Amino acid sequence: MDWLVKQKLHPIIWMLIGVLLFSVFRFTTYSSDDVHYHANFNIVIDGEEYMFTEFTDYVEIAACEADHEHSAEDDGHLHDHIGDVAHIHTKNLTWGQFFQNIRVTFSNQHLQVKKDVYTNERGNEVSFILNGNKVTNPSTTIIESEDRLLINYGDQNDNQLQKLFRQVPKTAHEHNQSADPAACGGSEPSSFEKRLRNIFF
Ligand SMILES: [Zn+2]
Ligand SMILES: [Zn+2]
Repeated sequence: MDWLVKQKLHPIIWMLIGVLLFSVFRFTTYSSDDVHYHANFNIVIDGEEYMFTEFTDYVEIAACEADHEHSAEDDGHLHDHIGDVAHIHTKNLTWGQFFQNIRVTFSNQHLQVKKDVYTNERGNEVSFILNGNKVTNPSTTIIESEDRLLINYGDQNDNQLQKLFRQVPKTAHEHNQSADPAACGGSEPSSFEKRLRNIFF
């Protein structure tokens, strides 16, 4: 830098050098802001796996790319009509927040999926198995990469619950490894142009 100082450069030039250094810094550090990982889950109601079949259950990749106001749905959602892989795009997202985005709410007393409400009664109850362990209510539990969660409503005993838990897929790992087709700000580095745009806007 010494020779630069000796040049007695015009302030505008110094400013341009500043902007350039700043851009290089932002460009090289930008991708570290991206969060994108996956977890698996199943919801089973009276022995039947609940299927997310509605178009509105899923976020289109085009919607991820479009410039829009940040919404809660951006942080965690489903893609590609795969109803048992949670795509997580932000740090510290809880299971409760994720499920709210796909219109599922729960406590240890009730489970609501869309408009259907199931409450603990007549031997039926809501139970949760997270990574093989029974938990009371994971709504405030932060989703970790490759977590597996079973939400069950019914009269199943512990053995039956474990059996259902084993049916929760283990596909989050593949999604983490592969270039996810549903990369909203992606596991792979964002495109050169996109990064450039993101530096300044
Ligand atoms: Zn994904
Ligand atoms: Zn996404």
